[in-house]
Amino acid sequence: MMQPNLVTSNAHHGLPTHDVVLILQTDPHRGLSTSQAQERRVQFGPNVLPETVGAGPLLRILRQFHHPLIYVLLVAGAVTALLREYVDATVIFAVVLVNAVVGFIQESRAEAALQSLRAMVHTDARVVRDGREISITSEELVPGDLVLIEAGDKVPADLRILRETELRVDESALTGESAPVVKAEVELPEATPVADRRNMAYSGTLVTAGTAAGVVVATGAVTEIGQIHRLVGAAEALATPLTAKLAQFSQILTVAILGLAAVTFALGLLRGQDPVETFNAAVALAVGAIPEGLPAAVTITLAIGVARMAKRRAVIRRLPAVETLGSTTVICSDKTGTLTENEMTVRKIWTPENSMEVTGSGYAPEGTLLATGGATVSIDDDAALRWTLLGGAACNDAALNRVDGRWQATGDPTEAAMVVVAAKAGIPPDRVGAELPRRATIPFTSERQYMATLHEWGRSEHVVLVKGAVERMLEICDSQMRADGSLRALDRAAVTEAADRLAAEGLRVLACGIRTSVSPDEFGEEAVVGATAFTGMQAMLDPPRAAAAPAVTACHSAGIAVKMITGDHAGTARAIASAVGVLDRTDSTSDQVLTGAQLAVTPADELPEAVQRASVFARVSPEQKLRLVRALQQRGHVVAMTGDGVNDAPALRQANIGVAMGRGGTEVAKDAADMILTDDDFATIEAAVEEGRGVFDNLTKFITWTLPTNIGEGLVILVAIALGATLPILPTQILWINMTTAVALGLMLAFEPKEAGIMTRPPRDPDQPLLTSALVGRILLVSSLLVAGSWWLFQWELTHGAEVAEARTAALNLFVVVEGFYLFSCRSLTRSAWRIGLFTNRWLIVGVGVQAMAQLAITYLPAMNLVFQTAPLDAGSWLRIFGIAVAISLVVAAEKWIRARRWSP
Ligand code: ADP
Ligand code: MG
Repeated sequence: MMQPNLVTSNAHHGLPTHDVVLILQTDPHRGLSTSQAQERRVQFGPNVLPETVGAGPLLRILRQFHHPLIYVLLVAGAVTALLREYVDATVIFAVVLVNAVVGFIQESRAEAALQSLRAMVHTDARVVRDGREISITSEELVPGDLVLIEAGDKVPADLRILRETELRVDESALTGESAPVVKAEVELPEATPVADRRNMAYSGTLVTAGTAAGVVVATGAVTEIGQIHRLVGAAEALATPLTAKLAQFSQILTVAILGLAAVTFALGLLRGQDPVETFNAAVALAVGAIPEGLPAAVTITLAIGVARMAKRRAVIRRLPAVETLGSTTVICSDKTGTLTENEMTVRKIWTPENSMEVTGSGYAPEGTLLATGGATVSIDDDAALRWTLLGGAACNDAALNRVDGRWQATGDPTEAAMVVVAAKAGIPPDRVGAELPRRATIPFTSERQYMATLHEWGRSEHVVLVKGAVERMLEICDSQMRADGSLRALDRAAVTEAADRLAAEGLRVLACGIRTSVSPDEFGEEAVVGATAFTGMQAMLDPPRAAAAPAVTACHSAGIAVKMITGDHAGTARAIASAVGVLDRTDSTSDQVLTGAQLAVTPADELPEAVQRASVFARVSPEQKLRLVRALQQRGHVVAMTGDGVNDAPALRQANIGVAMGRGGTEVAKDAADMILTDDDFATIEAAVEEGRGVFDNLTKFITWTLPTNIGEGLVILVAIALGATLPILPTQILWINMTTAVALGLMLAFEPKEAGIMTRPPRDPDQPLLTSALVGRILLVSSLLVAGSWWLFQWELTHGAEVAEARTAALNLFVVVEGFYLFSCRSLTRSAWRIGLFTNRWLIVGVGVQAMAQLAITYLPAMNLVFQTAPLDAGSWLRIFGIAVAISLVVAAEKWIRARRWSP
């Protein structure tokens, strides 16, 4: 019964809507039936984009070799093979191969992790099936589904638009054109190119304004985006500013190493040494000085950071955010929903002649209205009260449902609270709908600050109901309603005074108004403004999140400023800000709270200073958020900014870390963000900052640990050649050290838990180099100690009758043992190894065990002895090795101790 050309046609834009509906066998108002949808789901499969064909495994493996350091190794291996040193050549190639495989596995794992994180943030779609509006994951959409979209949504499939109001879509994902496109229900010639098909909304594009209903004409791979998706293969590079810096660093390193190797080679030849042996030494130097483990360590550390953040409910969308988070200096947070629960309950109602309190909690419509004296108030006593409640409940898009005996709200919590309070006063939602059928809507936006609806009233009359922010309503209204229903002049002073009083209690205040005797055709913004009667105010409680205050305190002690940005009343903002600690209670200057109106008149050159000083921004519009971010950045701040609406996207993009809300946020905001909070909680931002600092710490630790070995190895060779002495360590042995210790020891630093006190030090300066001069000093100290120690040991063994192979084995083991000891020191860059506790990173212990087995193998297994030209050691050698290692550790510990002394007063 289903027509074969259901989705094969690509010309739905060229047909009138009734043909589209007929072809897709659906109903333009009731949508598909559940059984139809199920059938089609089987036939067409899930609405997901095909897997990116990206770079194939072979290409990705090959890419692992594309690294200047690896080129050096490959050339060294090739030349070694030409010189018929087959064992050495094999070892070099084996190392290159192992390196590539490790890199490949790590990269794949990191990519898979990022991919699954993206999947955690899935998109919901609103569809009409069997005539009922339901919410499903966009994956379940099928051709023929009737889909509803509104501002902030990501279009979930290719839609032919059936009905729309002021629909605008950002199609940059598809066409690259970033200016929003106006959409309409029109019929277009079949030849219209995709970019001009105004009657279609394409999957993956973003709705920036308006609402629409459309029928799904294509899903998954058949969609326009699905078709280009296959061509592009959007494999995201795992690159960050840090990896770029490191890549640059390793390029410089390569040149330096090659230069040094060349000098070594020349030096050896000048001294008349055997060219083959000298060449081997030069190779050893090059190989030893290259930190092979570095790229893998960086990827792994970042990936572990991303995973740790996800565990704490912060999903990273762009990898650089992991680093930037660690250097955040200001967090600008929304109030409603991020610092507060966004669970609204109307607590107080004020009308010009009555003020009352509301009992009951949550969304259960159980409670009463009590006058200030304690008597219950009836809606029949006060017409202004009646219209305030009716207005709140009718000019409203939220709904109450009872699920498993519990009351739940869908839609905006602010509106849900108003439905609840009306029900408490005896006006249940169905009665609202029956008494006042809605005919038209001006939706709430943060810029407009009010919402208005047109309703039929009685047999032939119409009324306009308005609700919104008090200041805005005072502009809109010109009269107020008395208890008997008559109108008089608006007493702005009394309303303002009452509103300020309610706001000072931390309540969110909305005013309601009504305009009677309107003709339906004149409904629009002009018909509302200036001709409405104020009826009363509803004040609702939105408790601060329990975790908010401790998180704000933690930020402050970490040197991070927290600023609250809200569209709410300055009084409400101030009260909530002091409850969560954003406002400094000891400082009573009014400077700390700035309103949008004040910001608007602040001259551009004074703005950064004013923004820096204030910590609460009230009645701020989304465009002003962008100005705030810029002003803070001018002062050199690294800014994290939260946002949830369509208009927040520019500010989120401008911020160093754009943070979107996973639950309450729009798809547009999520798309612009670097990080998404799956629980919308401010405390999660703080947690992510903490993890970001930890990641950076661990990278620094790895580098501080790995470089002394490389420098030490290079120097040992250089010294040997310069002195014309026997090499204390061979190229293959150096490769052994570098590879095994990087994997078994160094990588374990990536699992290092965050140090205590990570949130009591100031943020890292993003321009600060990776290694401070103190760390460079330590690296040089350890390198020289390694050179001195291994040189002495090698010579001692030789002069005391050891074979060269034995002496070299001792030197090799010394390097590894010193690295093992030094590893524990590098777990903290400032504190002593003992203070952290030996067993707080179990991976480290496992790594040391593995490395020990490896060392026993290379020292005692005959086969290994053959390949690596090593020889078994006796107890005396081990004693000397450990003796030197302990001595070096003591020197490093002393250096650390002295430095810590000098730093802390
Ligand atoms: P925020 O999210 O920062 O609290 P909003 O921009 O959502 O700020 O709200 C600003 C003001 O607009 C609120 O103080 C309230 O008075 C009013 N308001 C909020 N939601 C609605 C709504 N759904 N309808 C009408 N007015 C609203
Ligand atoms: Mg809001």
